[in-house]
Amino acid sequence: MTANPIANPPDPAPDPGRPALLVGHGYDLHRLEPLAPEGPGRPFVLGSVRIDHDRGPVAHSDGDALLHAVTDALLGAIAAPDIGQLFPDTDPRHDAQDSREFLSEAVRRVAAAGYRPVNLDATVICERPKLGPHKAAMRAALAALLGLPEARVNIKGKTHERVDAVGEGRAIEVHCVVLLERSGS
Ligand code: MG
Repeated sequence: MTANPIANPPDPAPDPGRPALLVGHGYDLHRLEPLAPEGPGRPFVLGSVRIDHDRGPVAHSDGDALLHAVTDALLGAIAAPDIGQLFPDTDPRHDAQDSREFLSEAVRRVAAAGYRPVNLDATVICERPKLGPHKAAMRAALAALLGLPEARVNIKGKTHERVDAVGEGRAIEVHCVVLLERSGS
């Protein structure tokens, strides 16, 4: 999807001595600003679900912090270059890009390395909007993108107790861990 040389090396052959399990951690934060035309915020999208809110992420892509954290967790587990290296925000082709494409590329690389996801656990921290009504849709979307049953995908929502930028509604933060298991021989 890009000419970035980091993004397009040939996939290495799976290491025959690779471990049975790998763990990856992902983190992302985006500033939240008023939506256009009042500010630079993009429409609020999280876990590929569009949510009505008067603020949205400031980002080069669509700013989906949950998908960005999951993408980095998958890439991290196989020690691949991170999302910023694969899809640099200086590349105009990624302007407003659907972050499902980033995640799909990470899933493809995991498979090429000889692994498949086992489960995912994510924590989303934001003061507003309330995530509860949207968690089921986000979970279903993530499970489909990862090729996992929903029972192996978990999304927890927390506030930041009105403290600091996240607690003041000026940012959204996501942490996640993913477990991979070796596939095939
Ligand atoms: Mg991001």
